[in-house]
Amino acid sequence: MRFQSCEAAFEVKHKDVLGRIGYLTTCRKRIETPTLLPVINPSKLVLTPKELDEKFGVRALITNAYLVKKRFGQEAIEKGIHRLLDFEGLVVTDSGAYQALRYGRIDMQQKEILDFQEAIHPDVGVILDVPTGNSDANQAKLTVEETIRRADEAVKLRRRKDIAWIGPIQGGTHLDLLGFSAREMSKRPYPILALGSPTVVMERYRYRTLVDMIVTTKMNIPPSRPLHLFGAGHPSMLSFAVALGCDLFDSAAYALFAYEDRYMTEDGTLKLENMEYLPCGCPTCTKSTASELKSLGPDERARRLASHNLWATLLEIKKIKQAICEGRLWELLERRSRAHPALLEAFRALGKYAGFLERHSPSNKSHGIFYYGIESIYRPEIVRFRKRLDRYTRGIAKPCTIVLFTQPWGQPSEAFMENAKAVAKRYLGPSYKDALTMAFVPPLGTVPMELLDVYPVGKIAISSDLDEETIYEAVKFSRKILAKIGHNLITITDGSPQAEKILKGRAWPGPKVTANLFKEDIEGYKQNTFERTREKISS
Ligand SMILES: [Zn+2]
Repeated sequence: MRFQSCEAAFEVKHKDVLGRIGYLTTCRKRIETPTLLPVINPSKLVLTPKELDEKFGVRALITNAYLVKKRFGQEAIEKGIHRLLDFEGLVVTDSGAYQALRYGRIDMQQKEILDFQEAIHPDVGVILDVPTGNSDANQAKLTVEETIRRADEAVKLRRRKDIAWIGPIQGGTHLDLLGFSAREMSKRPYPILALGSPTVVMERYRYRTLVDMIVTTKMNIPPSRPLHLFGAGHPSMLSFAVALGCDLFDSAAYALFAYEDRYMTEDGTLKLENMEYLPCGCPTCTKSTASELKSLGPDERARRLASHNLWATLLEIKKIKQAICEGRLWELLERRSRAHPALLEAFRALGKYAGFLERHSPSNKSHGIFYYGIESIYRPEIVRFRKRLDRYTRGIAKPCTIVLFTQPWGQPSEAFMENAKAVAKRYLGPSYKDALTMAFVPPLGTVPMELLDVYPVGKIAISSDLDEETIYEAVKFSRKILAKIGHNLITITDGSPQAEKILKGRAWPGPKVTANLFKEDIEGYKQNTFERTREKISS
């Protein structure tokens, strides 16, 4: 997948779920994504840009053009933003819209801030949009319309051809407005799109709403266009944002949290005052202890905490990238969803978008899947196989169906098959040859024998002691499939406790027969049920 405009190009190298590893190339710089741009406040440097480059390997950062103009003015124009910051990597300048959201109006017009950005020559610039924030629907509509008007105005004001401009998408939690804003911004010449206003949602742990916002945006923009998520940089939620298709992040959280003595981890945030240990292997944490940190003066303490927070965030980005390469991003989400109930809620909310995630996630996979629980039922590989099963069994005409329940699931041994065949023959007579034979494979459902070699059947590592929710979902889907074929069904089990558990108390139509590996052993067989089944078959 590749996007190319005159100011920037974006190329995707690896993909998993909607997450991707790609290269963003501007006129002068090239960076790998997903990446987090640390926010630099030029008047209050907790870590210098040079340190970010040399100690942390940061290749891209973001600073605020409004604050740079206020603080440095002409000096910034003379030096240019790279020399002013002493940073050779990719520099993004934000416009000051966020300051307007936080502190009310800012005293600059779009033309002034755009001209200034062109004068200091960043690699990527942002127009002066109007963040939706917490606005009600009427106000939100105005922010969307005004942002689009300014996007059009900015296109006319731009003079340079060597700055890639970000087109901000507003609308916030008003998803219809957000979708409209995303579609409109996609039509305009902005090589990078950005979802605005997520901070107000994240500060209240409304991650489920954030899922709705990101998916709505992705549904309304071209998949090849890189997407920036403004103001998101906590390691505990980055995997979700990446898995839903965000490529760039910026965050001041590493520094802001540090000033409040907060220590970031991928499992959440800890207060320094409650810490006895520093549970991290970064250079800062290996060189000091929790009590040493507590005893430092406020400036040095903030500096060390900011260093750790940034390490923790950058480390999480690396873990996410590695998970994408391995095709195990979903497994990472499973783990991160246990960091906070709000993240688990967000993870479960992915079920609502299972079809969309399946359509846009890669299909060329072959590795095994770890099934941890009911949320995994929505992962793209399982949704895709079930769609295939649904198509395969459409319009299929068979006199009867045999479903095999064996342990391990979906892997009947030759000895068992021999016994099962004998049992089926005895019950169905000569018509057993025309029966459709299926195996029960949780969590997928009943799978025809011909599809047992198809991915991901046989590649799902699942606990042998199935939980009730998984049984319920697998049986429900099986019944949907079996209902299409007809109800002339016999179920044959190997007599294992798990197989018995699945059949016990579930309303499977037709007789249940146990074809033991050692002897034919008919259990729970009701003559009248079978007679009725046979009558149906013969009629
Ligand atoms: Zn650390």
